[in-house]
Amino acid sequence: MKICLKCKEEKPLEDFPKNKRQKDGYGTWCKTPCKSEYDRQYRQKNAERERLRKQAWNLENAERKAEVNKEWRDKNRDKVNANVARYSKTPKGKAAKTQSRHNRRARLAEVESTLTKAQWWLMQYVHDFKCAKPGCETGAQVEVEHIVPISQGGSNTFSNVQPLCGPCNRKKSFIDSTDYRRKMRISYKAYGSNEERLIWTNM
Ligand SMILES: [Zn+2]
Ligand SMILES: [Zn+2]
Repeated sequence: MKICLKCKEEKPLEDFPKNKRQKDGYGTWCKTPCKSEYDRQYRQKNAERERLRKQAWNLENAERKAEVNKEWRDKNRDKVNANVARYSKTPKGKAAKTQSRHNRRARLAEVESTLTKAQWWLMQYVHDFKCAKPGCETGAQVEVEHIVPISQGGSNTFSNVQPLCGPCNRKKSFIDSTDYRRKMRISYKAYGSNEERLIWTNM
């Protein structure tokens, strides 16, 4: 018989997993429920981490693809211009042109703004779709909060946003640049390089 260090129950030796590192040859936690529950949680957390890593890589990949496309367009200006000219004569093209003129005007009036829907989703995802401020329990809907405020020259980019709930967002003064995101070691290789990137999560 042996006492499980987790549930403190006395159980026969066969109820403990084999473990060569222990003097008696058996682990310190009983098979069920203690060790099996621990293993299940460990696997779940790992799977979550893997998912996150893949998610981040996909984002990076999509961004890199957009860059490559842009490089191609820059190199093939004439071809692209000809295509655009043809497209802009169609009804769909005309509508798109009006829309893009509006977008462009809005963008020029603002700061650097590259935050995509996917990036914002990821940022919320790593914070469990909750407010990033530690201990916040309002449960209120989260909003995009700029760590360095736009009015202070901050940008609307992935690296400058965090999810804060409405009340926390409004409590934060406009000169405050507290970063509530918790960095943790979910790293992934940046697309096409060996550079390691970190993503934020309170997992
Ligand atoms: Zn136990
Ligand atoms: Zn909050």
